[in-house]
Amino acid sequence: MPFIYEPTSLEKHAENYLTSLKIFHPYQINIENICTLENLDYGLGKTSCYLVVNDYRFISINEQKNSKDQQFEFLHELSHNHFDHNLYTAQCIDLEKQARLFSLYLAIPLHMFRFINFNSQNIIKETSDLFNIPEDYTLERLQMIYERKISNSSIQNTIFFNHI
Ligand SMILES: [Zn+2]
Repeated sequence: MPFIYEPTSLEKHAENYLTSLKIFHPYQINIENICTLENLDYGLGKTSCYLVVNDYRFISINEQKNSKDQQFEFLHELSHNHFDHNLYTAQCIDLEKQARLFSLYLAIPLHMFRFINFNSQNIIKETSDLFNIPEDYTLERLQMIYERKISNSSIQNTIFFNHI
């Protein structure tokens, strides 16, 4: 059964960003690939953070975390990089909110819903494994998707997705 979905503008922005990098499949959303494409340096450290020194941009990933946590924390730091948050020292809370939301959109992007089996009884674990992000963030993202899933076909700017 197909369903209709109305994305947010920030969600479309995340899709456009990833497609501009020619990222079309979940396995392409990984630290090494994106850092190469974005000309970012990265390394393992004691904490996850984002550093800018002139033109040099560096993302540190917490070496103590597991692969899924590292992936999501990387996408969070990547969001700060994407929006040039280093240029804004004020409104910290808003920047964090924006980075948090954008990283969820990057983690399970709009144009990859087709890889999710929405009929599965085990959707959280499967989607968490597919996108390599923690189950709690997967659940949060799936809830966001369900909340924006609509049944009124008269609404414009909607996207159809087919269940696998
Ligand atoms: Zn942050």
